[in-house]
Amino acid sequence: MLALRGPDKRAEFAPIAEQYRRFEPPTHWPMRAFVVCLICTFAPYPLLRIAACAAALLSLLTLLVMLRNVPKLECPACHYAMTISARSHCPECGMQMLEKGRCKRCFARVLTARARRPFKIRYCGNCGCHVDNVGL
Ligand SMILES: [Zn+2]
Ligand SMILES: [Zn+2]
Repeated sequence: MLALRGPDKRAEFAPIAEQYRRFEPPTHWPMRAFVVCLICTFAPYPLLRIAACAAALLSLLTLLVMLRNVPKLECPACHYAMTISARSHCPECGMQMLEKGRCKRCFARVLTARARRPFKIRYCGNCGCHVDNVGL
């Protein structure tokens, strides 16, 4: 049997997880606003185009400020940045992985080549310690 999950760090990680949850969903609206404004810049009315450009810039700035405030999801045990691709442990089930790309046990995709992280973080992808129950 392989080495299993790492130590339980949920209590230590809870404040960061809570802070992260508070920031994650609201960052979606400036993103959407930016896209809508960008489409509006192709409008046939010059005044609307200018307004759309200004609004797009504003939403982009809002997004940047919000992203700056999102706490970094760093492992409390090994300080590994858990939002990037998992190294040796599956971030969803915490089991040790021998191959990269997909967890053999829960089939979670654990690489972050895409803009959106395809996995939820429940365990550290490096040392395998337990950080959250629901996943971030
Ligand atoms: Zn897994
Ligand atoms: Zn770790």
